[in-house]
Formats: sequence, structure tokens, C-alpha cells
Amino acid sequence: MSELNPWLNIAADSDFSIHNLPFGIFSTPNQRPRVGVAIGEFIIDLPVASQAGVFAGLNIPPIVLEQPQLNNLMQLGKVISLQIRHRLQQQLCDSESALKASKGVLVPMIDAKMHMPVQVGDYTDFYSSIEHATNVGKMFRDPANALLPNWKHIPVGYHGRASSIIPTDVPIRRPKGQTLPKGQDTPVFRSSKRLDFELEMAFIIGKESKLGEPISTAEANDYIYGMVLFNDWSARDIQKWEYVPLGPFLGKNFASSISPWVVLLEALEPFKVAGPIQDPQVLPYLQYEGKNNYDIELEVGIAPDGQEETIVSQSNFKYMYWNMQQQLAHHTVNGCNVRVGDILASGTISGPSPDSYGSMLELSWSGSKPLTLSDGSTRTFIEDGDQVCMRGFSQKGGKRVGFGSVNTKVLASHA
Ligand code: CA
Repeated sequence: MSELNPWLNIAADSDFSIHNLPFGIFSTPNQRPRVGVAIGEFIIDLPVASQAGVFAGLNIPPIVLEQPQLNNLMQLGKVISLQIRHRLQQQLCDSESALKASKGVLVPMIDAKMHMPVQVGDYTDFYSSIEHATNVGKMFRDPANALLPNWKHIPVGYHGRASSIIPTDVPIRRPKGQTLPKGQDTPVFRSSKRLDFELEMAFIIGKESKLGEPISTAEANDYIYGMVLFNDWSARDIQKWEYVPLGPFLGKNFASSISPWVVLLEALEPFKVAGPIQDPQVLPYLQYEGKNNYDIELEVGIAPDGQEETIVSQSNFKYMYWNMQQQLAHHTVNGCNVRVGDILASGTISGPSPDSYGSMLELSWSGSKPLTLSDGSTRTFIEDGDQVCMRGFSQKGGKRVGFGSVNTKVLASHA
């Protein structure tokens, strides 16, 4: 693959190399939302490419490429998306190709607006970083027994809210809700004072399973279409008051932001690494073969309104204690089915060192250690006007496969 030599000029540090070719939904002032593939600083307009004969011989109904979400394309089976990706790789390296000859097939990214890549069905959020779970356990529960007894036996998760998953560049309003002021015993209703991000990645289901039929760890990759960056917005003060004894609710369900390009799992194959050793040994249905973690470098930046960005966290997806195959096997082991378009998020991805923590809750240690930004201001949590940006990429042996970014600006609460 590394000998692929495209005729298009692609910067060496581009997330969207010829080894990537992620799928997304874009529009332009003249074109309705449709399926595109990112390459360098361009988007390949798939309906236009199809008309130009780029996919000749492949059995791809043109209508699926004209949809405003990837669900119909995913329904055809991942093999179709892999065929499209392979054909584009070939034609991007063939200066006599239909792709090269076609006018209007390459749309500059700066002229395009990105949309939600999929219509999300159900959304599940895991809690699979041992560093994050330990940090939160220390702050919210018992410093001496931060992890609950089940944590190393179960990929803990909860069912989230799909309606409030939004694409990059859609601002959010600071949520309001019930919180319990310090030292008081009755709650007040007000704007959250502890608005936080959670640095996560998520995978999108591309194949449906049947009710009552579990997916094994060995089968899991067939069901995983691809991955995105995922910012799971959280209001810590609302969460802290409401979440005992139930699960997360209004402290979590007001917004989650995703990156617009879905990177196929196959594009991440060269970046597989071994996960942490799981001790105690997990039950047989959670055991797996081979390497199932991925070396994906992640970072979070905060840009105050009109100011430059400061990087506040650098983490890596490889730290996950529970991998995606285990998460999906656990999710379905009781017979729960999954459908095309479902999103399963990793949970906050914290690394071992304090500068790799994936939330402000951890970075500022529950507000006790403010961070200083490059403009001299300090942050314990996210302020109005801040833009939070998450980025991620894998790089190895001259190949780079990245996710671009997910950017979200925080606006003041509604009056
Ligand atoms: Ca989360």
C-alpha cells in the first residue's frame, strides 16, 4: 500500500492520505447533501464520480450515493464501501483514469459544509478507560477503592441519547438544570457551572444483528463500519446531583459532537497494537484473538472567544482497557440487537499522565487545579465563548490516517 503514488498533490501531514479515504456527507451552495470521500484538501463527489464511470463494474445503485446520510450505503454491506475505497485508490494513482478526467468530481473542502455522516439509531456510551474510571472513582466515590468490583469483569456502559448527537461546527448552549450548591441540602435550578468535554472515539454499526443472537468478539469487526472522534459533553454539577442512584441522564444527554469523516476500520488496520493485559482474566465470551487496540493519537484544544488555541490534553486510543470487540460482544451477549447507524462510544480516553486526561474534571482535578491558557486566562471547566477542538490521527511507516477534527463552540445559556 505504501507504494501508492497519487497524481493529486497531498501534503505529507494530511489526515486524508490515499491510505485513508473516509466517507462523509457534504453539501455545497449548489449541491444537496451527498456522499463524499476525503482526499487531501478535497472531497470526491461520489454521485459525480459514479456518473463519470469511476465505479463501472461495481454493483452500486447511484441513489445510495445521493442520500443525505451513509445508512443506505452501509446497508449494502461494508464490502461495497471497501470496493469504492479500493477503486478510488486505483484511480487516484492512474493519471489516465475516469476520476482524473472527470470535471467537478473534486470539491475543495473549504467550499463544502459537512453534515452528520449517519442517521444515528441508538447510542451507547462505555466507560472503558481504566485511568478515567480510576480518576472519577477517586473524586466521586472512594479514593481507596476507586474502581467498583465489577469494573475489570464488565465493559461498563449505559444507553445514551441519539437525538442530541451533532456534527462538528454546530455550537451548543450551556445547559441548565438542578444542582446542589456546596454546603447546602436543597437544589437550585441554574446554568451549569461545570460544563465539560469528554475525549472519546466512537464506532458506527454497519451491519444489523438479530434480536436474541449475540455477536462474538471474533465476529465483531464485521459489524463495525468505521470510527469517528466523539466529544461527549457533560455537565458535572448536574451529573453529580442526579446520577445517584440511577445512571447518567440530564448531565449527559444535552449534546455529543462527532467528527464528520467516518474512517473505515480497515484503514486503521496498520495501526493495531496490543491492549493492556487484563488481570484478572475475563470470562470466555470477552476473550479475543490478536491485537485489537489501535494506536490513534488524540488531542484536545480550547480556544477562548477570539483567542488562539491551547492544547490541554494529549491522549491515545491505545490506552483503552476494553477494546471495541469486547464492548460489542458484551453489549449483545444478552441478546440485545444492534442496527445500522447505531453509535457505540468508548468512554473518556484518559492516559496515565495528568496531561493525558480526557476531561476537564480530571485535568483540573474537580476544579482544584486550574489550567492556564496561552492568553493568560485560567480554566477549571469550559467557559461561554470557548471553542473545544478534538483531533486524532494514526501515523506509522510513512502512512498517516487521520480523523480531522470535531469543533464545538459553547454559547451562553438561553435566558
Ligand atoms: Ca462519556
